[in-house]
Amino acid sequence: MGIIRNILQRLLKENTIEKKEKLSESVYRIQVKGNGIKNAEFVPGYFLRVGIGLSDESIALQDFVRSYSVWNIDKENGTIDLAIATHSKGVGAKWTEECQAGDKIYFTWKKGNFILDESADSYLMIGDLSALSHLYMIRRNLSKDKQVESILYSQHKDELYTDIDGTTPFDFYEMPQNPYESIVSKIKEIVLGMTGRKIVYIGGDSRICVALNQFFRRELNWDTKQIKTKPFWNPVKKGLE
Ligand SMILES: Cc1cc2nc3c(=O)[nH]c(=O)nc-3n(C[C@H](O)[C@H](O)[C@H](O)COP(=O)(O)OP(=O)(O)OC[C@H]3O[C@@H](n4cnc5c(N)ncnc54)[C@H](O)[C@@H]3O)c2cc1C
Repeated sequence: MGIIRNILQRLLKENTIEKKEKLSESVYRIQVKGNGIKNAEFVPGYFLRVGIGLSDESIALQDFVRSYSVWNIDKENGTIDLAIATHSKGVGAKWTEECQAGDKIYFTWKKGNFILDESADSYLMIGDLSALSHLYMIRRNLSKDKQVESILYSQHKDELYTDIDGTTPFDFYEMPQNPYESIVSKIKEIVLGMTGRKIVYIGGDSRICVALNQFFRRELNWDTKQIKTKPFWNPVKKGLE
């Protein structure tokens, strides 16, 4: 275990937590500062693999790393903002609650496919609290002429926070976990008003990602290239990615 810990420590880049702020009852904004950020090659939708508790001997191997989306990047000042939900109560949530400005944070970049795609005319963003910052980042970077529709939900609507620029461009809903039927009935209304080439982004609960992927393909006959999904968490697994 010590060897893996040492390898991870070498692979992950050391940065510093610049600021921490509570965004809502269960979500924290964490601002990270580091020289590498100024020259980072970045596409909206990239995320970080953060080394959690590398110095804590009691943490198990599967809990060493957690993924967090880049909510905002300021290359001039060399900062990145993350927004982390703590409902999970796992090591990531504990680290988020306990970390403080001035602490070291270790991470590496991850690119993936859940990134900005400007090829459509209209977009539908669907996700829960864990995916809100990721979807904000994609939306903010779409050109202004794009039509953007949204279904962002949480068990407590007031936990859904505003975007980094203070705006609230998404439609927020109070829904229970895994609200497949409620989301589908909203989708049926929304797609009627979407024009031109369409793309849907679905992030967060893996059950919703899988079920809606099938719904868009089978019921709405959307092509797979129009459907972008990224499971952020799974009720029977710890961490993902
Ligand atoms: C590409 C990617 C980007 C991500 N970006 C973000 C981000 O920007 N912000 C963010 O908050 N999270 C994000 N996540 C999720 C994050 O990586 C962790 O999985 C999450 O924070 C839970 O970690 P944990 O250690 O606290 O709990 P874990 O130990 O992983 O899980 C403990 C338990 O909590 C459950 N659980 C996990 N997440 C939730 C949830 N949201 N609601 C209810 N139960 C949950 C699990 O199913 C498990 O039963 C992202 C995941 C991926 C794959």
